[in-house]
Amino acid sequence: MARLIIMGPPGSGKGTQAEHIARHFAVPAISTGDLFRTHVREGTDLGAEAGRYMDRGEFVPDHVTTAMLRERLEKDDAGAGFLLDGYPRTVAQVGALDDLLAVRKQSLEIVLALAVSDDDLIGRMLQRAREQGRSDDTETVIQRRLELYREETQAVIAAYSQRGILISVDGSGDRDSITANAIAAVESGLAGQ
Ligand code: AMP
Repeated sequence: MARLIIMGPPGSGKGTQAEHIARHFAVPAISTGDLFRTHVREGTDLGAEAGRYMDRGEFVPDHVTTAMLRERLEKDDAGAGFLLDGYPRTVAQVGALDDLLAVRKQSLEIVLALAVSDDDLIGRMLQRAREQGRSDDTETVIQRRLELYREETQAVIAAYSQRGILISVDGSGDRDSITANAIAAVESGLAGQ
């Protein structure tokens, strides 16, 4: 059983890392960005609302995001744990997640933070834009997403650091060694709890 969060700036490769790490711990990787993109693709009302924010690099309002996450956490596969990717992104969402977990009598074990330099990030995001054609990977939108990360999401990392559950891992270098380092760090964190 593992209840984990992966954090990292846009372009840090956290989506890919999340998939690998989640597989290792046999829990689902739950990405709020992916959930939104599915809604956008399927043309749901939620997708129409979320898409307006995503295309500008802004955060989707907390109540919309949290309601969507609550629904996802209620699915059976999340009963034995999860790895959240992209949530929480604001201090308000940290509190909302605490409330969601308290109802389920669960707590978080480890928050993994991937550290990557700004230059690496922009390069990787522009490359991803070419490969995947994400509409929120243009240079202006990328800058806005990085800015929001610094303004809002750094405070989330600080909050988890204060709780003593944050583990930082170097997110530059080749993908397989980052995964291996991250898994080892989470395992030793879990063993120490
Ligand atoms: P991501 O794939 O995690 O980079 O998310 C893509 C976009 O989805 C973000 O730029 C936001 O517009 C939206 N999004 C994803 N997760 C959240 C969240 N926790 N709170 C608000 N907006 C989010």
